Order: sequence, then structure tokens, then C-alpha cells
Amino acid sequence: STFQELGLNKDLLQAITDMGFVTPSEIQQKAIPQLLTEERDLVALAQTGTGKTAAFGFPMLEKIDIDSRTTQGLILSPTRELCLQITNELKQYGKYCNGLNVVAIYGGASITEQAKQVKRGAQIVVATPGRMKDMISRKMVDISKIQYSVLDEADEMLNMGFYEDITDILSYTPDDKSTWLFSATMPREVATIAKKFMYDPIEITV
Ligand code: AMP
Repeated sequence: STFQELGLNKDLLQAITDMGFVTPSEIQQKAIPQLLTEERDLVALAQTGTGKTAAFGFPMLEKIDIDSRTTQGLILSPTRELCLQITNELKQYGKYCNGLNVVAIYGGASITEQAKQVKRGAQIVVATPGRMKDMISRKMVDISKIQYSVLDEADEMLNMGFYEDITDILSYTPDDKSTWLFSATMPREVATIAKKFMYDPIEITV
């Protein structure tokens, strides 16, 4: 199939062309049409390199209201490197989405600088769990209006001991949001998170 057939808008299609993507990857073909047309949770078993960032990034960019400055999308990822990588990819994907603001939140860098960026109005925040919790408790970020949350590399985050941070963070988000979980493996802890926070998820394996 083609990216057009997946139902993406012209701003995204133009960015996709610019990046040289020709064919949607397997996870993109399986996830994007469903996430675009249904407000459902998702559990995807997928390794890095499968194109999973676009699999959740395109639908999120399509669904959020870019004319609003409210933070509507939250992506949790295990490391600073991954956080920056996802942020940069989303910025590329959204380069024709005028007014889009994607902010990376991670430890080891100035929290006041990150808070300043959020305050300017970030529709999407990409964060590591520790720094995210810190910023929530200091009221530097408001995630009470989140509509789409992604747990990326969930198994890695749990291996790194972020279970409590993740559950705390999600408790500040609305119950009616969609949650999209990506993991390379499905150990018991990941299944527990999925069961606790997700309702009747779409299940995809690639
Ligand atoms: P990811 O699995 O999200 O880390 O993506 C791995 C790499 O593949 C990234 O550098 C993406 O920019 C690239 N990529 C994602 N989707 C496609 C696609 N459909 N065609 C070509 N490259 C892609």
C-alpha cells in the first residue's frame, strides 16, 4: 500500500515525500489506518528500526489540534537519546503543520529551560519518566488534557525501574485518552501495565 492509502493528510504526505519514504513499513500499514479511524488503545510488539515512531507519530500529528496550544500528546520513552530522536522525527514529520510545537523533556539538562519551552505551548511532549514526574510535581507541565499517550519501549522503561513513575504520570492524565504501547518483548510487567491502563486494545505484532 501507499501512504496516501493509509489516509494521511497532504501536509504529512509532503513531509513523507521529502524524507524519501516510499512504502509504509509493516507496522505502519497495520497501525496507522486503525489509529486514524478508531479511538482505541493499542499494544504493538515491535523492535526498533521497524518504523514504529511514524506508526504512532503520524496518527498523533493527524489527530491533535494544532491551532490549540494545549498539551494533547504525551510520549514516554526510556532514555534521553531516544527522547531526542523521537522529538526530531516528529518535528520532521510535522514540518508543514504550521504552529506545531514538540518539546523534549529529559534529565541532565536545564529544567527551567524545558519548562519555558512547554509554557510557550507544546501540543506534544516527549519525555523520560523521571524528569516528567519532576516537572509535574513542580507544576511546570499540565497533562490533564492529554488525549493520546504513547509508552515507547515499554519493556526498557520497566527494566530501568520506571514502573512507579509511569503509573504516577498516567494518573494525571484523563481516563478517556487513548494509550498506545510499544514494546520489543512482552514480559509480565508489560502485560500488567497494559491490563491496568488499557481497554480492549488493538493488538499488533510485526
Ligand atoms: P524507528 O523504528 O521508528 O526508529 O524508525 C527507524 C528508521 O526508519 C528511522 O530513521 C525512520 O526515519 C525510518 N523510517 C520509518 N518509516 C519509514 C518508511 N516507511 N520508509 C523508509 N524509512 C522509514
